[in-house]
Amino acid sequence: MNDEFDQYNFDTLAVRAGQIRTGESEQSEPIFPTSSYVFGNAAEAAARFSGDEPGNIYSRFSNPTVRTFEQRLAALEGGERCVATSSGMSAILSTFMALLQSGDHIVSSRAIFGTTSVMLNNYMAKFGVETSFVDLVDLNAWRDAIKPNTKLLFLETPSNPLTEVADIKVMAELAHQHGALLVVDNCFCTPALQRPLELGADIVIHSATKYLDGQGRCIGGAVVGKEDVVGADVYGFLRTCGPTMSPFNAWVFLKGLETLRLRMEAHCRNAQILAEWLEAQSAVTRVNYPGLTSHPQHELAARQQKGFGGVLSFEVAGGKAEAWALIDATQMVSITANLGDTKSTITHPATTTHGRLTPEQRSDAGISDSLIRIAVGLEDIEDIKADLLRGLG
Ligand SMILES: *Cc1c(COP(=O)(O)O)cnc(C)c1O
Repeated sequence: MNDEFDQYNFDTLAVRAGQIRTGESEQSEPIFPTSSYVFGNAAEAAARFSGDEPGNIYSRFSNPTVRTFEQRLAALEGGERCVATSSGMSAILSTFMALLQSGDHIVSSRAIFGTTSVMLNNYMAKFGVETSFVDLVDLNAWRDAIKPNTKLLFLETPSNPLTEVADIKVMAELAHQHGALLVVDNCFCTPALQRPLELGADIVIHSATKYLDGQGRCIGGAVVGKEDVVGADVYGFLRTCGPTMSPFNAWVFLKGLETLRLRMEAHCRNAQILAEWLEAQSAVTRVNYPGLTSHPQHELAARQQKGFGGVLSFEVAGGKAEAWALIDATQMVSITANLGDTKSTITHPATTTHGRLTPEQRSDAGISDSLIRIAVGLEDIEDIKADLLRGLG
């Protein structure tokens, strides 16, 4: 991060970090849609290519709009360096490809984004990187799964869709005792609610597609961490192999960062009200939300996070038929598996995001047929409740 920003607090960084005004004196950050950059003369071109002189060469390597987004997100996460990627999945792929080689081992939470499990099982495994999956909140299972060749511990907290919470500080200590790095996918909390690097994590991953955009428009991702890991290894993979973020998407995300904290607080407020209201409904048998005192890791979440997040899940009496009936009775809430949008979304994990698992795997993961997930948006909370009440009556 640029040293001049050291003096500023989160809200100021969210609005200003990374901006460099051009000669046009623009107030809002410009978009630079250019694939390459022009050199003053042949010697300058040679100096840029050799690395003797810093500066832009080609937008697979660097782009001013993308850099503004990277510096802003790095500042918000409290990281030395951020590398922006074309999607959340390519952020995860770039991290694995940069830091691992054949024969290495990962220990991962079982409760991670479904496509991340597919990447580990179908692709990383193909290149000789093996993964052991464990229960997010079972510290002994993590400890037992670590082997001499374990290089990374990987987790998301809170988990999707059950909102289980892992102690990042404890997990970082465990990783470091064994010479491994802790990688945290911070998509659900964002740096507005949780800063894993401060708690000892080595790398933070983002799907910018979710709350960083916040309005469901663009696909993108990011990796944040130390200069010698993210700036050297991850960036090295990215500039060679090419999953770079487009300048237009970077601009959308960096404008999203300006309102991130305000939006996250509003998501948390709506989700808390909805979780408490759902807990009081007779047709609801269980509610999973870290902000509820009934949540098993409520105190940990209160300590580790600035807010409890915008995602909750709940079970209705009955099974799949009752869950589907409730989903189908809604008229406003969007039936979609995406999250992190101003618009509330509702989904049935057992037949969508977790539909590829076998019934045994689903029951091991705690995904019952009566489970419904809601990513609570920014609509009026009374309208969200009224929409759900259509199917809860
Ligand atoms: C969506 C998501 C991803 C993948 O991000 P894309 O931008 O869709 O590639 C990774 N992790 C989590 C937790 C997600 O929700």
